[in-house]
Amino acid sequence: MTNWQTILTDSITDPSDLPRHLRPDLQNSEKLTHHYPMRVNPYYLDLIHTKNDPIWLQAIPQTAEINDTVCALDTLAEERLSPVAGIVHKYRDRVLFLVANKCAMYCRFCTRKRKVGTAEMVVNEQTIIAGIDYIKSHPEVKDVLISGGDPLLLSDERLEWLLAKLRAIPAVEIIRLGTRVPCTLPSRITPNLCRILKKFHPIYINTHFNHPREITQESSTACTMLADSGIPLGCQTVLLRGVNDNLETIHHLMRGLLRIRVKPYYLFQGDLSRGTNHFRTTIECGQQIMRGLLGKISGMGIPTYAVDGPGGVGKIPLTPNYIKSLANTLVFENYEGRTCFYENGGS
Ligand SMILES: *Cc1c(COP(=O)(O)O)cnc(C)c1O
Ligand code: SF4
Repeated sequence: MTNWQTILTDSITDPSDLPRHLRPDLQNSEKLTHHYPMRVNPYYLDLIHTKNDPIWLQAIPQTAEINDTVCALDTLAEERLSPVAGIVHKYRDRVLFLVANKCAMYCRFCTRKRKVGTAEMVVNEQTIIAGIDYIKSHPEVKDVLISGGDPLLLSDERLEWLLAKLRAIPAVEIIRLGTRVPCTLPSRITPNLCRILKKFHPIYINTHFNHPREITQESSTACTMLADSGIPLGCQTVLLRGVNDNLETIHHLMRGLLRIRVKPYYLFQGDLSRGTNHFRTTIECGQQIMRGLLGKISGMGIPTYAVDGPGGVGKIPLTPNYIKSLANTLVFENYEGRTCFYENGGS
């Protein structure tokens, strides 16, 4: 076993095995972790300082997960939009390709919580081959977004095989990997992995950091290695109550990401996925954070605030409205909240 695989086998999967001061107060803990598995690997565990801190909240199960009566199982209608197991084809030009059912840490707020890490999520050689065949027979697909679970939990050999298959499809232009591993298990980013990835350019990686304390020496090294392999890195942060739902935290996070060569891509409003309602903030909160960011950080550090609409309608930007009126004269607000004017073109 490689080093990262050994670290994963040392993960805590039962809340009662946590150090006493970090143990959650759970009713019916077995039922909870049966539905929504827990995995906290030693690296991520080390980032936790205290119970209920922003790292703890992301990783440790809470009773609220099984008491969620608001959210739906499959809010994004991924099953309906799935032509073959493992493929979600929502937008014409791109597909989501689920190639792994496990993660280095099970985020408590996961959108795919209904199945990730459980027997509900079937991913095997047949489903992956069926996915590749689907993409092959749909030349309108130019962009393959490899996700899961976490695709970087596949072995180097499996990943190389998969990337070679996808790269051999003439219509596929870009390949994207959605992975939280640079944040939750940075030792997975090895020189051999980088050597493999760079053979299949253009490869993009969208990773997922939610709090400045996740930016460590280790995660910074992992991102540097990927960036040095010529891979543009983006970040898909989720706005989470108690974790990052304030301007100061998001501002520090975005600065930190730019420092480790990761470009903030999306800031997501929480999906209505069952088991995650206790993490949701209001859209006003997100918009206030976005207003605050403008003028505080370069446009490089400003993600698109968006929500993935229920029912599979797609991602919708929730950018605050700076336009007060738009006629012959555009009346708008600047980053300081000052009213400004611009003479519109035309007659
Ligand atoms: C989010 C998503 C994508 C990718 O969207 P981008 O805006 O291109 O990052 C593609 N397919 C599905 C089903 C998605 O949910
Ligand atoms: S890494 Fe992604 S897929 Fe895995 S549990 Fe976290 S949010 Fe879900």
